[in-house]
Amino acid sequence: MREVSHDFEGLREYAYAQLASGSARPSGQGPGGPGIPAAYAAWLAFLFELEAAVRANPELRGRLRADTARGLAAVEQARMRFLAERKPCPRCGALTISSFICEHCGARLGGQARLGSSSKGQTR
Ligand SMILES: [Zn+2]
Repeated sequence: MREVSHDFEGLREYAYAQLASGSARPSGQGPGGPGIPAAYAAWLAFLFELEAAVRANPELRGRLRADTARGLAAVEQARMRFLAERKPCPRCGALTISSFICEHCGARLGGQARLGSSSKGQTR
């Protein structure tokens, strides 16, 4: 447990994987997305709950132990990356990684405007 709680890179990656798999629920129930080691899953379940608690009560942040605060930061960074890569669907509110069609309700999203200017191209 000690190594896990100090592997902030690993935590960040697994936190992202858990967010992407949709299994990170605020209720903290049954963690463990695909391929996430149990020790990380347990620590992440705690950190996701802590993240929600800190959001509701920001004073808590100042009372965390240093390694807990770093773990929380890793989870928050993973969430920022997760959110930066996705947009909420205007119809159903689900986060969708496509900018054209909602993967959840099939709504067409206003992603067309960027098609012409993108030299990188999102070919997939
Ligand atoms: Zn939708």
